[in-house]
Amino acid sequence: MLNLQSMTDVFVVGGGPSGLAAAIAARQKGFAVTVADGAAPPIEKPCGEGMMPETITALHDLGITIRPSDGVSFRGICFAQRDARVAGDFPSGAGVGMRRTALHERLVVRAEDCGVKLLWRRPVVAIGAGHVELASGRIPARWIIGADGQGSRVRRWSGIATKQIRRRYAARRHYRVQPWSSYVEIHWSTHAQAYVTPVAPDEVCIVIISGRARHASFDQSLNEFPAIREKIAFAKTTSRERGAVTSMHTLRNVQRGNVALVGDASGGVDAITGEGIRLGLRQASVLADSLVAGNLRQYEREHRALAKRPSRMAHLMLWLDRNPRLRTRVIRALQRKPELFARTLALHVGYGSARDILLTGVRLGWRLLAA
Ligand SMILES: Cc1cc2nc3c(=O)[nH]c(=O)nc-3n(C[C@H](O)[C@H](O)[C@H](O)COP(=O)(O)OP(=O)(O)OC[C@H]3O[C@@H](n4cnc5c(N)ncnc54)[C@H](O)[C@@H]3O)c2cc1C
Repeated sequence: MLNLQSMTDVFVVGGGPSGLAAAIAARQKGFAVTVADGAAPPIEKPCGEGMMPETITALHDLGITIRPSDGVSFRGICFAQRDARVAGDFPSGAGVGMRRTALHERLVVRAEDCGVKLLWRRPVVAIGAGHVELASGRIPARWIIGADGQGSRVRRWSGIATKQIRRRYAARRHYRVQPWSSYVEIHWSTHAQAYVTPVAPDEVCIVIISGRARHASFDQSLNEFPAIREKIAFAKTTSRERGAVTSMHTLRNVQRGNVALVGDASGGVDAITGEGIRLGLRQASVLADSLVAGNLRQYEREHRALAKRPSRMAHLMLWLDRNPRLRTRVIRALQRKPELFARTLALHVGYGSARDILLTGVRLGWRLLAA
């Protein structure tokens, strides 16, 4: 039975990447922090397992140093389609592909070192004004952070409305094979995208995503990607297939009273952007600042600003997905002008102003017209 007097400054519901990041960031500001999760570490979740350079920086800011040897570093992104291919390098730094469970372990160790109180296998069953309820008791908390993922119950309990925009279906598998590319490859087919992330010197993670549930069956969809199928033809699978839903959703607000939402619970961008983890980590940092200021409206504003760039890119990727003919023209145009692809990638990872976005859009438009 929990000590019912164990008042905490901050109670975090959910110990995934965003919840642990929020806990570490709040602890770094001096708050007493408790995290509860219904599962136990290392927590596995279907994920592309690619972390952009900015994600690595965000982890570093939380006191977690990710080295290329923790996984495999990748230099950029590659778009591939049956008859076209273009690759672009990150303007600075490298991304790292790393098993999700390994990332989770690193976050758990850092949270423990910071003095966060961690309650595993303890699902939160309700929240009230100024307290959180577990099956074993009630814990008073000044602030409650909902980091309980896409289907957040904290969101529902606090009456925060969600606006679903688009839902897609994903399937993930790992293969024992030497990575064949130093890029994260995004392959496009008529009905789906497959992306391949190197996660170990002898392992890749493959995620297939489609707008239609029936196209998310791994084996069936793999037939649409002969180039990948050929590479893994003799490779052993090193994980079982796991399905997931990825959605673009925004909320009217991400805080109410003494409750704030973070990570996927606070809205999400489609998995194809590879931005989910970074967003959660960055939200965690600005949320900690807002807790110090005692002002969750400040978090609301900063959350909106953080969501803009990945959301813009997600809309662009989904638009390409829905328009195969245009997509072919875009990829071919970029193949002819790879520096334009590198420029777009730089904007995606945060290098460039609104003016640069406009100029790149105009240049791409011109290329398309000229094609
Ligand atoms: C197919 C796919 C591929 C992706 N690929 C990438 C990628 O390559 N790169 C990237 O950066 N992002 C990627 N993402 C996005 C990324 O996985 C998510 O953004 C990230 O997992 C969000 O973390 P989170 O902590 O907010 O939520 P979650 O990881 O969902 O964690 C929520 C936690 O809350 C716990 N929980 C839920 N309810 C309760 C409760 N009542 N009480 C206690 N605990 C509770 C759960 O057990 C879980 O541990 C991908 C997503 C998908 C679906």
